[in-house]
Formats: sequence, structure tokens, C-alpha cells
Amino acid sequence: MQASLRRVRLALPVPLRQYFDYEIPEKFPLPAVGARLRVPFGRRNVIGFCVAQQPQDSPADMSCKAISEIIDSEPLLPAMMWQLCEWAADYYHHPLGDVLQQAIPALLRKGEAAQYASQRVLAITAAGTKVDSSEIARAPKRQQLLQQLQQQQQLAIADAPKQQRQPLIDAGWAEQIEQVKAASRWRYQRAEQPLTLNQQQALAVSAINQAKGAETFLLDGVTGSGKTEVYLQAIEQVLERQQQVLVLVPEIGLTPQTLARFRNRFAVPIVMLHSALTDRERLDAWLDASNGSAALVIGTRSAIFTPFKSLGLIVVDEEHDLSFKQQEGFRYSARDLASKRGQLEQVPLVLGSATPSFETLNNAIQQRFRWLPLNSRAGGAQPVKQQLIDLKQQRMNAGLSEPLLEMIKNTLAKHQQVLLFLNRRGFAPALMCHECGWLASCQRCDAYYTVHHGIRQLHCHHCGAHRPIPKQCPQCSSLELMTQGIGTEQVEQTLSQLFPETSVLRIDRDSTRRKGSLDTYLKEATDNKHGILVGTQMLAKGHHFPQVSLVALLDVDGALYSGDFRAAERLGQLYTQVAGRAGRAQHQGYVVLQTHHPEHELLQDLLNNGYSHFALSAMTERQQAQLPPFAHLALFRAEALQLDAVHQALQDIANQFPAVDGVNVLGPMPALMERRAGKYRMQLLIHCTSRALRYQVLNHVLARLAAISSLKQVRWNLDIDPQDF
Ligand code: ADP
Ligand code: ZN
Ligand code: ZN
Repeated sequence: MQASLRRVRLALPVPLRQYFDYEIPEKFPLPAVGARLRVPFGRRNVIGFCVAQQPQDSPADMSCKAISEIIDSEPLLPAMMWQLCEWAADYYHHPLGDVLQQAIPALLRKGEAAQYASQRVLAITAAGTKVDSSEIARAPKRQQLLQQLQQQQQLAIADAPKQQRQPLIDAGWAEQIEQVKAASRWRYQRAEQPLTLNQQQALAVSAINQAKGAETFLLDGVTGSGKTEVYLQAIEQVLERQQQVLVLVPEIGLTPQTLARFRNRFAVPIVMLHSALTDRERLDAWLDASNGSAALVIGTRSAIFTPFKSLGLIVVDEEHDLSFKQQEGFRYSARDLASKRGQLEQVPLVLGSATPSFETLNNAIQQRFRWLPLNSRAGGAQPVKQQLIDLKQQRMNAGLSEPLLEMIKNTLAKHQQVLLFLNRRGFAPALMCHECGWLASCQRCDAYYTVHHGIRQLHCHHCGAHRPIPKQCPQCSSLELMTQGIGTEQVEQTLSQLFPETSVLRIDRDSTRRKGSLDTYLKEATDNKHGILVGTQMLAKGHHFPQVSLVALLDVDGALYSGDFRAAERLGQLYTQVAGRAGRAQHQGYVVLQTHHPEHELLQDLLNNGYSHFALSAMTERQQAQLPPFAHLALFRAEALQLDAVHQALQDIANQFPAVDGVNVLGPMPALMERRAGKYRMQLLIHCTSRALRYQVLNHVLARLAAISSLKQVRWNLDIDPQDF
């Protein structure tokens, strides 16, 4: 009988799409399905999850290695989270063992128990309870401590100084014990009064609260239309029912201001999951959510895997934001997983955005999501005035046209702030020789070096390589080296010279490298400490600067003629988000766009008709071209030191695809940057008319790849619903 084999089947955190069977020695009980186990794998020990006990089809004639340790006596994850991970492994064609690993906090990944760290406390003993404290009246402090212990049973070690506690321990009246924090209960309490909702907000809140089970809502409102207020009031009703809420925000959105808004409204335990947490804090937060101690969890992408005791609502703010998609390893979309999780847990999901992604808009149009529009700015701010500056034949000063400089001057004269966007950090995107045209380029990438003036270095933004700025052209020895193009550093420098009285603040990845500096800068910007703010995309999201009345996009031409089919969508989103930064308070706001193509149809549509209209026309184009969301993509990427190897591997994958109607295999073709950090990179695009078809055909192909030797010569991965390629 096979069933007598004491074996388990495990999902291991290895890149192989298969399970592994292990022997359970007699000294161990049979582990629960869903428990973590430690097992030898190759020359290391790894932690895996039990997916089946005594698998019937485990080949009896094959010998298995024995497990080393059973870590959990019961399943680590609640059934719902396990199902979510299984679904994700299946949908993304990613090994379940790796999905499970990524879904849990680092300490659990390393085999730590799913428990709070124990704390040492001073506890009263039986003898201590009986003793009359007046016996030690001559040591009043010690007496006081004993009395305290008699009343409270125990105290944190920090509250019992050694001088007083040691004699009590020596007398046998108290002892030090290790104690584990217990789950705590909370009661809903409102801290500040909610605002009176306008009609559309009220409709939205009541629709969300009347949701039956797993409904998804698109809260579609311009910046400042009061989406956050809708979240807050929908959340309130969930908390009142003593249920928990998960709020996902983009990476950059997790600021102290965000937290403050929730804290000011609700006097309940709130947990923030952000990258600055220690591993221990992260596990504690995970435990707080899973045992019900936390009422509200606010976190970035990976927070979608937080287990809850009693989840009542999920909110994804800025649902269009790219940071919800993990771009390496297990490439999942937290927004799409939120949708699946809502279905599994039968709770409503609110997707909020001023610029919904085309995927989400399409779902709303198809009535899979319920559309909740917020059309006007709450709090009475006026709509912004828009202006296109035609750059043709303009005199330019570091990317700034004269009409724009004039507007900046006027805004500053009114003591209002200016916000300038340029999605290129550094001083200039290239260094060129004026004599021979030589361009400084990275040896390891198909890319030019970016010039960084402040640190006097050339940097490759793709592989991190850097070197000092040369004084001489290596090709013709000319000393006339000049920069090409404009970066944020140069704009900042030029503005400081043109407006010496005004403080100019630059916010980009370079200026905010130091931990905490972004928060400091954002606060200074909000407090109007700087007249001009210059920044990259980083500045576009979710921040409220009350004194900003002029916003300008310095260069959008790249996006108008890009090879990336999503470029228009991204530009529409950036423009609309940026426009939302202008004049949120009492001032009239202006948004200015500098371009060489003011007549471009997309720009005209965007400016004259707004994002929704623009999105609908851009989506029609996508539909005609059979591109997402009207088709379903998957992308194989591969890289290696040899170009031939990369090409061969992808060609071998392509050859596995059966000829099926509705499936197109495109490539192998070079990646956007064909060489990066010394490696050649290519890709293979799979285009399918339906998700179901994509799923089937990929399952068919992936099952055949283990036998293909050319794949062992390269690093490759599969990206489902790829965003950037
Ligand atoms: P969004 O999240 O859509 O950008 P917010 O919720 O932050 O919008 O609201 C923008 C501003 O309008 C905030 O200052 C907020 O306090 C205010 N506000 C929102 N709703 C109302 C309302 N119903 N009445 C008055 N002010 C409101
Ligand atoms: Zn030269
Ligand atoms: Zn490089």
C-alpha cells in the first residue's frame, strides 16, 4: 500500500515549476498541509510549505531525502490567503513555493515562529502575593514596587529598576519571566468629525456600504475631488462593524501626511507597512493584522498578502500607479490580486484614481466594475487654466522658454509657488565633443552617460557605472566637451541664477537619497519655504502644496512619438496628475505644457476634453490595434553575455508554441535596451485574444521547457500582463 509511505509533498522556493517529495522520519508527526518545513535541498537547507500529506502518486521505488524540521504545527496562512497564493501561482505561471515565500514577512521566510517577540517582565510570585508590604517599609521605593506588583501582577522590566527588583527576586516574591504579547481588542472611535459630503461623494459612500459581497468600484475623480474623504467615510462604517480595512497606496504615497489623515480621523490601531520597517516590526504588523489587533493596515504593493482576521473592505488608491506591479522575480500586480482577494473574501474593493488605467476603465465600461464619478473639486477650488507653449523657434534657457519664465516671474511676485516637471534627473543626459561629435557612452550598456555636475561625475542610469567627467575628448583630444540636453539639476541651477532671491528646491532620486529627506522636503514645500520646486515624476503624486499656482511640464515630446504603446496613457496620466497639483487651494491654478507639437491630436484631446475623453479615444485606438486591455500579453525575457545564446533560447521557446488561432508569437526581438550591464537582452512577446487561451497555451509550453538545454545558458523569466517593455 502506497499510503503507508510517510512522505509529504512540498512547494519549495526554487525557480523550478514542480513540487518535491520528502520522507518524514518516525520521530516527527505528519505535518499539516500549509505548515512550513525545513528540508535539505542540494547543498543548502530551504524552507518549504507542505502542499500534500502522503501523496498517493509518490513513486515508492524512488528514494526521498528526509525533512530536517517541522516549523509550524498548523497551517501558517489562513485558507483564504493560501487560495490567493495558489491562484497567483497559477495565473502568473510562477512556482507556488516562491509565491508563498514572497507572500510572507522576511522573518517567517527565515523560519522564525509566527509569534511576537517575547518580552521580559517582572511578575509577582505566590509568596509575593501573601507577604505584607509593610515588612519592608524601611525601603520605601522597594515597598512601592512590591505594592505595584501586588496590584498589577506584573510590570515591564524597564519600569522596575534593578536596585529595587533584585531584592524582591532574592526574597522569592517576584520573578523575571519571558512573556509574549497577546492579541488585543479595539473599539471603533472617531477622532475628528467627518466633512459633510457633496452629492456625488454621498452616492459613492452609500454605494460602497451597500455592496453585496465582492463588488468592485471605480472611484473616478479629479485630484482634489474628495476621493480620500470617500475612503474615510466608507472605512468608518466598516470599522463600526468591528471589521478591518486594507488600504494600498503607491510606493511614494506612503508619507507621514497620508498616515496623519487616517490617524486624525480614527482613534483605532493603525499599522503602516513600509520599506523602512525592520524585519521584526514587519512580522509584528503582520501578526497584528492576522490576529485582529490592527483595525487598519496601510501599505504598499506587498501588503496585499497581509492576512486579516476579519477583513471588511479593500481600498487601492491611485490604482493606475505602476508601483503596484512588481517588476522582478514574482511579477504580480497588487491591484489585480486585490480584485481576486475581494472575490475570495467576499468584500468590496474600491479602486480610486483621477486617471484610471485603461484596464480598469474598460472593466467599468463593461460593467464589471461599478463606476462612481466625482466630477467637481471638493472644497470649492476652481478648475485650472491650461496653456500650450509652442517651442518651435523659441529662445530657450536650460529647457525654459521665455513665456514660461515670464509666468514664473509673475507667480513669484504674487508669493505663490511654482512646480516644474522634467522626467530626467542629473545635469544633462549626454556629454559630447564639439569637434568630432564623440558621445560619452557606457561600456556595458546601449546608453549614454548622464552628466552629474554636483558630484562631477558621469553616471550610467541603467547599470550604475560611473567615472569622473573627462576634460578631453578621448577620440580627438579636443578640450571642447559640451553637455547635450537638460536634466533637473541644470534646471535647478539655471533658476537659482535667474531668480537669486528665490529658494529653488529639487526633488528627484538624487536629491532624496538620504533616508527621511523626501519627507523633510515635502514638508518644507508644503510650508512654502521654497518658491520653485523642480522635480521628476516623484513630485507628481498625491502631495498637496496649497501655495502652488503654476505647474509646468518642460518636455513631453518624447512621449508623443514613443514606441511604447502605453506612452500616451502614461502622458495623459502624468499631465492630469500634475495639473491636479495646481491651485488646490484658493488661487487660480495654471498648467503649462512645453512642446514642439502643440497640434498633436492626443494633446489637444487631453487639454480640451479632459482625461476621460482622451482615454476613451486612446482606447479606441488600442482596440483597433488589438492591444491591451483588448488583448492579453505575456513576455519572455532572456539575457546572457552571448547574443547568440539569448536568441537561441528564445527561439527554442517560440518553437514550442502550437499554431493556434488567437495566439501570436512575436520575436525573438531585441529588448528596449539591447545591452545592459554587459549582458545582451532579448524578448519574445506572446499576444493572445483571451486570457483563457493565454493560460492554456503557456501551460502547454512551460511544461516542455525543462527539456530545453539552451535555456540553461541564459537567465530568463516570464512576465504576465507586462507593463514595461
Ligand atoms: P482627493 O483624494 O480626490 O485628491 P481629497 O479627499 O484630498 O481629494 O480632498 C481635497 C480637499 O477637499 C481636501 O482638503 C479635503 O479636506 C476637501 N474636501 C473633500 N471633501 C469635502 C467636502 N465634502 N466638503 C468640503 N471639503 C472637502
Ligand atoms: Zn572629439
Ligand atoms: Zn551602463
